[in-house]
Amino acid sequence: ADSYIDGSKLPKIRVVVRKRPMSQKEINKNEQDVVECFEPQTVVVKELKEKVDLTKYIEEHHFVFDQVFDEAISNQDFYVQVVQPLVSALFLGSKVTCFAYGQTGSGKTHTMMGPPGDSEHKIPGMYLLAANDIFALMEDDSMSDFSVYISFYEIYCGKLYDLLNGRKLVHARENASQKVKIMGLTEAQITSVEETMEVIDFGLSSRTTGTTAMNSDSSRSHAVLQIAIKQDNGKLFGKMSFIDLAGSERGADAFDSKKETRMDGAEINKSLLALKECIRALDQSKKHTPFRGSKLTMVLKDSFQGNKCKTVMVANIGPTISCCEHTLNTLRYADRVK
Ligand code: ADP
Ligand code: MG
Repeated sequence: ADSYIDGSKLPKIRVVVRKRPMSQKEINKNEQDVVECFEPQTVVVKELKEKVDLTKYIEEHHFVFDQVFDEAISNQDFYVQVVQPLVSALFLGSKVTCFAYGQTGSGKTHTMMGPPGDSEHKIPGMYLLAANDIFALMEDDSMSDFSVYISFYEIYCGKLYDLLNGRKLVHARENASQKVKIMGLTEAQITSVEETMEVIDFGLSSRTTGTTAMNSDSSRSHAVLQIAIKQDNGKLFGKMSFIDLAGSERGADAFDSKKETRMDGAEINKSLLALKECIRALDQSKKHTPFRGSKLTMVLKDSFQGNKCKTVMVANIGPTISCCEHTLNTLRYADRVK
């Protein structure tokens, strides 16, 4: 696997895998680790199967990705390998996107936001590590006429909620020049990492306490954090989007018997399928991107179009035998995005 310090050489799409370590609970339960990463590119999953005569056997599944990382990788090292090249591309004027895909509990939020903890001792995730580099690069004289803005919103059941404004419902519109804009979405200007941290914390607090939060469940919604670099005249220079996707297993809830879960499960399923198609279209430089397939892909339209767009898909997976089926589903999805 190549390392891409220079964002200009970054391919349009990279698909990487990150395996999380066993939790204390899994260790206590003596759960078996069935996932082995052969860095830099191969991951092997050992699935326990049963023959008709009930004898058990192991089926090995091999997958090859742009890069795979085992449980030993820290957020900091993962950032350097995976997200820092996107920041470099951002400063070349690209629209760059990082998705975290995987079942609930696989480490998406740990990767994006870092583990929970008070701000003083917090291990940062991709949001803050990127913000740190962005503000360092903004110091450059050539960037003196530019400003940085942040938006943070949630997509739940095909609707958009502004996390920086009390989880207010906002609407996306396509204007006459076919640009998709979210009307009234808060864009907070930020000038430092500390401010970025405060804005994110503020947004997270409304994720659980906002007036329309009754259905809020991070495993059922996509969280979108966008950092935009704009010129003095308001013209967009570059944009970085982080998407902490809804739990991929929720897509299967579409077939649940309970009506409410069925509705958002179907929506999640639809958006994850549309996402796959849009990322694939990016690589094939197709004229037509099927971004209308879901609200998620619609709001990311400009990040799927044009030669300068760069996307990284992080497939987060758990180690244990009990999540083996979801792990295989995640790897198969990621494999089809490549
Ligand atoms: P998700 O957002 O995909 O539902 P989380 O990020 O919340 O999953 O991870 C579930 C649990 O596993 C959390 O307690 C988290 O801190 C822990 N975890 C996930 N990835 C790692 C990792 N790479 N190292 C240590 N702990 C992790
Ligand atoms: Mg999460």
